[in-house]
Amino acid sequence: MEISEMREWERISAHSHILGLGLDENYRALRKADGMIGQIEAREAAGIIVKMIKEGKFAGNAILIAGPPGSGKTALAIGIAKELGEDVPFVHIAGSEIYSSEVKKTEFLTQTLRKAIGVRIHEMRNIYEGKVESLSVEYMQHPYNPYQKIPATATITLKTKNEKKKLKMDQSFAMQLLQQGIEEGDIIQIDADSGRVVKIGISKDAVEEKSYDLSSEKIMDIPDGSVLKEKEFVYTLTLNDLDMMQSRSGMDLASLLFGASERKEISEDVRRRVDEQVKRLVEDGRAELIPGVLFIDECSMLDIETYAFLNKAMEQELSPIIIFATNRGITTVRGTDIKSPFGMPLDLLDRLLVITTKKYDAEDMKEIIMTRAKKEGIKIEKDAMEYLVEIGQKASLRYAIQLLAPAWELANKEEIKREHIERVYKLFADVKRSVNYLRKMEEEMIYD
Ligand code: ATP
Repeated sequence: MEISEMREWERISAHSHILGLGLDENYRALRKADGMIGQIEAREAAGIIVKMIKEGKFAGNAILIAGPPGSGKTALAIGIAKELGEDVPFVHIAGSEIYSSEVKKTEFLTQTLRKAIGVRIHEMRNIYEGKVESLSVEYMQHPYNPYQKIPATATITLKTKNEKKKLKMDQSFAMQLLQQGIEEGDIIQIDADSGRVVKIGISKDAVEEKSYDLSSEKIMDIPDGSVLKEKEFVYTLTLNDLDMMQSRSGMDLASLLFGASERKEISEDVRRRVDEQVKRLVEDGRAELIPGVLFIDECSMLDIETYAFLNKAMEQELSPIIIFATNRGITTVRGTDIKSPFGMPLDLLDRLLVITTKKYDAEDMKEIIMTRAKKEGIKIEKDAMEYLVEIGQKASLRYAIQLLAPAWELANKEEIKREHIERVYKLFADVKRSVNYLRKMEEEMIYD
């Protein structure tokens, strides 16, 4: 597993509760829906953009979300991608990542853009469908963080109409499985030829729509619980997946989907061949192209060259929606000595729609922290929660959420009480307090 993939996993999992923008049919935001809480105007603005994208009327291809740290910029971008469709690619990078030494800047950007364009392929495959009877995940040591564990493999026992199948899955899938929150009782599909799970995330809800009776223990009640011969199978890969597959030709679909992938340069020749193949598939009606969402956080870290590159990409016929996010005001555009809002070139800024996010009030903050605590199985007393919200209001939402885990450790994973929050608040400084502390130290040293 690539380090960048892991980074992606960690980043996205902080937002696993976000399922959409939480809007009603008139694109009005409900105060609490789809895991989204408050931030009403920003969500409604995002909803209008989703509508425009779906109707093919969003010409600019880019938006900017500006707001203070922890005000839900990332959550909003994920909400937009989810609203666009279940298999719409969402790619999250931080502005500073383009300076990574792994590959050239332009290569990194090209790969990133191609990760954000999906190819939905229709194919006839032999598919098993069944109910997850048991599920266990094995963890391993994080490769560069000795104190963290990450999923290594997962084993699933699947009950189909006629038999039980035990399947061992590799790391990519174990992670995806946890991200999508697959549980016992869910229906999943497995490719009969490769023995790999090909579609997970047919959640209980989706299944109920198809009126399967999952409350019943009798697996025989699941209509399609047998081997389904030659089912039309639809899966989505990204242009970058196809580039990787092409550049390591000879690789089958399964190893592409589930095997480890290393980052390296991909030749223009490979990309041209992939583009031709995709074009043919689309012309034959066997594939559709789906522009995804590329979220670029800390965009004030991007330099003028990168902006020029992205500008050009946005003008192409096939471009992902680019969502820039920043919490900076006026600052220098990197690579120039020009100051401008958000450190963005003015010509680009001119064509962007800007959404602003606001700091949360105590009530919204409380609900968001509660949602995260619930998602992570953390119990917290009312009094402790109130204190945590107070801290969040003074410091930031991000900081308050960060305190949950250490407080949970102090509470021996029973129930977080006010004293646990008081203690972790003392032990772990927020940015403001730590900066003040250092400033004071500096002053003392000067006057000594
Ligand atoms: P930063 O500027 O530091 O990158 P941000 O503005 O992107 O922060 P997020 O990372 O989106 O803020 O928010 C912090 C946490 O709070 C995340 O777990 C996010 O999912 C959650 N969150 C933020 N806003 C909302 C919201 N309106 N509803 C539900 N959860 C939210």
